[in-house]
Formats: sequence, C-alpha cells, structure tokens
Amino acid sequence: MMEVSQLESNILLYTFKEGYGVNIVALIHENHSCLIDIGNEQQALQVKRHLAREGITVTDVFFSHLHSDHCFANSLFANCQIHCGKNYKENFADNVNDPTFIPQNLHQDGDLFQFGTHSLQILETPGHSSGSISIILNNKYMIVGDLLIFDYEGHQYLPYVGADSTFQLHFDNVSRIKSLPYHVLIPGHGLIQNSQESIQKACEVVEFYLKQLEKLGKDAKLGELIKDPTNILSTFHEMTLTNQFSV
Ligand SMILES: [Zn+2]
Repeated sequence: MMEVSQLESNILLYTFKEGYGVNIVALIHENHSCLIDIGNEQQALQVKRHLAREGITVTDVFFSHLHSDHCFANSLFANCQIHCGKNYKENFADNVNDPTFIPQNLHQDGDLFQFGTHSLQILETPGHSSGSISIILNNKYMIVGDLLIFDYEGHQYLPYVGADSTFQLHFDNVSRIKSLPYHVLIPGHGLIQNSQESIQKACEVVEFYLKQLEKLGKDAKLGELIKDPTNILSTFHEMTLTNQFSV
C-alpha cells in the first residue's frame, strides 16, 4: 500500500512499507515533478498515476543508485531526463527493465542541479554500491539512498556493502554524512530520521560494525560487531560477508 506524506507544500514522500519497503521523493514545481528513486514497476506506476491525477507530469528522475528496488521501471520514464552518479554502469544493465535507455545526466561530487525552486547538491557516496549518490535537498534534507537503511518500526539494518564497493568507502561516506549540519535524513528504506542525535547514532552503528568487521574478519561473532544490539537488524550481514570475503 502506498502512503503519501507532504514534507512541504512542494515536496511529497511516497512510502511503500511491504517487505523492505521503499521511499520515493517527489519534488514539485508548477505542474512538473522530479522524482528521487522510483521503486519497482508497480510502485513507480502508482506514484506516476497519483501525480497525474493532480495534473503533474514527471520530467526528471534521479537514481540514488542502480539497484533494481530503486530504478527497475526506467522504461516508464522514457521521456524524462534521467540523472544518476557517474559510476552507474556497474549495476545499470542488470537492474533496469530497459538497458537501452541510458541516463543522460551523469553527476559527480559537488554538482548542483536546480529543479524550479528546489536546489539539489549531489554527493558521490559509494559504499552500498560503487555508483551511489546522496542528495542535499534545499540545504535541509539529506537523501542518502541505502547508505543508511531502516525499517518502518524504528529499527536500523546493518549495512549492505556491495561486491563492487568496500568497507572503507562505505565507512568514509557514512562519516561524511555524519559530519554534515543537516538534521533530516531520508533513507532509501525505512523511517525518516528527524534529529541530529538519531542521525549520529545511526552513523555510529554502521561505523562500528564496518571497523570491527574489517578488523575481526568474516568469522567474527555478530555480537562483537554491534556495540548496542537494541533495535539493530542484521538481515544484510550475510550478504555483505559474501560480497566482501568471497575469493
Ligand atoms: Zn534498496
């Protein structure tokens, strides 16, 4: 089921909570919209139709990263300007439903993009995948894709470090997000983090986990990798181990 919340008069958050769920942000300017992530085909269609009912057409789409749960239905946006990080290729062809439809706008760290009155500052934040980006929206919101992942009940997932990335890259970019002065974090999955305290805490969980895992290796007990297990979900731990330690 799709839930729609209005973060501001011209910013909508579409939330799908089933399974790992997904968050889709829609920036509105006049009768145009810029989406940040699109989910799977069914989710993308629901968002597109909801906007269309309001007379709004999607003209621009950003992908936080090229995993299918964020970008699969790219063919639904064939008439749009597609934006993503410059290192998108590693994951692109396998994770979209139309690999012939290539993104026209490849962004690098520090790029600024203006969508009507909305300002988007692009940060390259690889770790979850090599092409992951984060977006600082209107000098207020940090939209981080799957660099930090939560569920919709207040738990945090341990990170998924893609086979195309490394602990160090993931660690460095979580530390970078932690150091920024913005107090609202919108993850790719799960609840928005609305305070500096919750953002700092979530970043520290990931930093501790990655440092311990690097130090202790794949045979470390999960308890050694989590400082405070309260509210931590380890679902992606096995996948990270496979990605990072397989020969
Ligand atoms: Zn995801």
